[in-house]
Amino acid sequence: MKPTHIEHIGIAVENLQEAIKYWEEVMGLKCYNIEEVADQKVKTAFLKIGEVKIELLEATSEDSPIAKFIEKKGAGVHHIAFAVEDTDTALEDAKNKGVHLIDEHSRKGAEELMIGFLHPKSTFGVLTEFCCKK
Ligand code: ZN
Repeated sequence: MKPTHIEHIGIAVENLQEAIKYWEEVMGLKCYNIEEVADQKVKTAFLKIGEVKIELLEATSEDSPIAKFIEKKGAGVHHIAFAVEDTDTALEDAKNKGVHLIDEHSRKGAEELMIGFLHPKSTFGVLTEFCCKK
């Protein structure tokens, strides 16, 4: 398993509209998609910079992982997503190398991607996402 590129950087925000305003007006990027991912209890907004996307994440409920993250650490960089050929294979490969997984199997994410997370305890503090197109 070798990732091909950084697919996106996930950023936890308290208010999606305010964050979009910053990224559009100050950084000059364009939000091209807003999407709710119900099972993760988040609303996401996407902007593109070259090949890489910025994924803004706002919690839609108090028990959302994003709400818990912001409560503990405050808003900010949440995860880095690496594009792989097949998310399940990449997860299994990481597991075989002793990495603790959050997701044993891939699940549906935003932007028509299959996603899976590695535990930050095994990745030197970086919440790591693998993703591939369905
Ligand atoms: Zn992500």
